[in-house]
Amino acid sequence: MAEQASPTTAREWHLVARPQGWPTPADFALVEAPVRRPGPGEILVRNEYLSVDPYMRGRLNDVKSYVPPYELGKVMDGGAVGRVVASEAEGIEVGDAVLHGLGWREYATLDAERAVKVDAQAAPLSYYLGVLGMPGLTAYAGLLAVADLKPGDSVFVSGAAGAVGSLVGQIARLKGASRVVGSAGSAEKVAKLTGDYGFDAAFNYKDGPVREQLEKAAPEGIDVYFDNVGGDHLEAAIHSLNAHGRAVLCGAIAQYNATEAPAGPRNLALAIGKRLRLEGLLVRDHAALQPQFTAEMAGWLRDGSISYDETVTEGVESALDAFIDLLRGGNTGKMVVRLAS
Ligand code: NDP
Repeated sequence: MAEQASPTTAREWHLVARPQGWPTPADFALVEAPVRRPGPGEILVRNEYLSVDPYMRGRLNDVKSYVPPYELGKVMDGGAVGRVVASEAEGIEVGDAVLHGLGWREYATLDAERAVKVDAQAAPLSYYLGVLGMPGLTAYAGLLAVADLKPGDSVFVSGAAGAVGSLVGQIARLKGASRVVGSAGSAEKVAKLTGDYGFDAAFNYKDGPVREQLEKAAPEGIDVYFDNVGGDHLEAAIHSLNAHGRAVLCGAIAQYNATEAPAGPRNLALAIGKRLRLEGLLVRDHAALQPQFTAEMAGWLRDGSISYDETVTEGVESALDAFIDLLRGGNTGKMVVRLAS
């Protein structure tokens, strides 16, 4: 077996209690666990970046959903990129960079078929968790395949300074949107939207009712709404959507930690007269778009047409704080955890 030195134990995060409302450190434990040597067809990966994502909040609940809940007392998982340090698999060598689903831990032993080789020369490894990875494809597929974006459309995106939202706004602009409007939760983020990301208008949803702020930012109405937030944002968008407008229901982060039913939308009946289409998006349905997405996004990154930010925390011990901070809006762009390399 090809192998580099690796420890016999390493740290991993376990869920130990199911949070009601906001997660707290008491719901999790950082555990020292054996590093299993790879068997036939397997690889051992030293993770270099871990992803923390909003969907993980749903997995803390014991409810049936499109991804299974995390199990109590067991290691959690999620996106990660790292380097192969031992390989018992054909076609994957020690030193190869791979993307896989066993995050929330320093070392991962997995079937090589569940890892995808990535090009560490083409882009920083962390990009495969963000702009070149799942959030990037979410933005791309949501706009092009679900919203069926057309040149001249006016687009509104919520969560606009986050991983998905910042790319939605920029892709919309590159694909010929007539106006791109975004909402985010701080003055700094709003300035970034109209500065670095080229949005035409942006507002801080904490400054006043979303409906009023959106009407002001998009006086001619909107044709596409990319919803990362739900609640009052979706209600405001339904109000501002023009006839035959489309809303991509991507996320509803405003209610992920809620213990009561969400505030809206209370105006759904408007969708009848306006002939609106509101459609849910699951990124995993759009794997067929991956090659086209990767080629186009890599080109935009190369020629500087897309601006991409990350918020990076250091060390596996910071992963939980990074996750909770993400839910609170502590990130600009993609939140990732860098492990010592
Ligand atoms: P982000 O990088 O956007 O991080 C989450 C952001 O949500 C925070 O930075 C915060 O920014 C914002 N937020 C938190 N609470 C609220 C609130 N109450 N109201 C408004 N905004 C809030 O995460 P992602 O880009 O990874 O994900 C964005 C959305 O897309 C999420 O809803 C996620 O669940 C969804 N998603 C769905 C996928 C699918 O296949 N359907 C795939 C990937 C993501 P701020 O400071 O602006 O409040």
